[in-house]
Amino acid sequence: MRPTGRLHIGHYFGALTNWLHLQESYDAFFMIADWHALTTKYQDTSQITQSIWEIALDWLSIGIDPDRAAVYVQSAVPEIAELHVLLSMVSPQSWVEGEPGLKDMIRMLANDEEEARQKATYGLIGYPVLMTSDILVMKGDLVPVGKDQESHLEFARDVARRFNTLYGVDYFPEPQAKYTSTPLLKGVDGQKMGKSYNNDIKIADTADDTVKKIRQMITDRTRIAKSDPGHTDLCEVPWPYYNLFANNMLMEHPSIFLSDVKQQCENAIIGCVDCKVRLAELVNEFFAPIREKREKLAKDPDKVRKILEHGNTKARHVAKQTLADVREIMSLIDWHR
Ligand code: SF4
Repeated sequence: MRPTGRLHIGHYFGALTNWLHLQESYDAFFMIADWHALTTKYQDTSQITQSIWEIALDWLSIGIDPDRAAVYVQSAVPEIAELHVLLSMVSPQSWVEGEPGLKDMIRMLANDEEEARQKATYGLIGYPVLMTSDILVMKGDLVPVGKDQESHLEFARDVARRFNTLYGVDYFPEPQAKYTSTPLLKGVDGQKMGKSYNNDIKIADTADDTVKKIRQMITDRTRIAKSDPGHTDLCEVPWPYYNLFANNMLMEHPSIFLSDVKQQCENAIIGCVDCKVRLAELVNEFFAPIREKREKLAKDPDKVRKILEHGNTKARHVAKQTLADVREIMSLIDWHR
């Protein structure tokens, strides 16, 4: 995950809850991808260090367990950079330039296609190879992704296969997608949730901020007055949130029940303003222990630093072995031995 600031609840339900399951059953590696952040944010690097801490705090407070999984920072594992150089040599330029994720990222640099191309740096263009190195350096065979990220893995598989074929080995696994169910969580304005759209609710938001943000949620646009019956199926944001929080077995004993909300909405017993107040209570109730843990951890930066250092060491242990093998496979002198 790129360090671009505090995570929002879309990240929580879209990725992090799945990671909690994965760390139970797999040898998991969770990486804060600070070099990837530089591919587009190289001009202003002032926020990257802070963002690394914020992500680490978010991950640890939601329950990512550094005793089970390796929680580490990409730039603390220099073997990733070395593998990136070596894999760059075997990755055809046409493959790199044809990677759909790269095309999207270049398009986002500017509205004008020519200008976007001018702005794309060598580092950005090489990002598919860097991402492949992130995965292969850990000999990762499964990567938790959404369906829309499958093309990234296709590229990583192609490079792994090419390396194995070129050097006549069966060394790198061809990483497969570990699809995870990701409920689409809208922002408070009904659009896709995103930090840059300023429509998100952060894991670390205060209870008051959460109330204020939920107050802005778009509801049933056909409901003008409180006395008009509401339609939960037309309610754009609060109702899907109710479903997610109260009905998803995420809370064992939710204080608010869906059937009550539906009945009171559709019979005009409750207005949208009050309904959103209740939703905010539910969201705050759900995140209270996470936020409490986060606040406590934030006051103990030494502990967070030690956790990351421990993860860096764990990840490097695997990466060093991979690079020793790769140097040997490629008949390179191993100066690090
Ligand atoms: Fe949505 Fe609640 Fe308003 Fe019904 S009462 S439309 S569920 S916000």
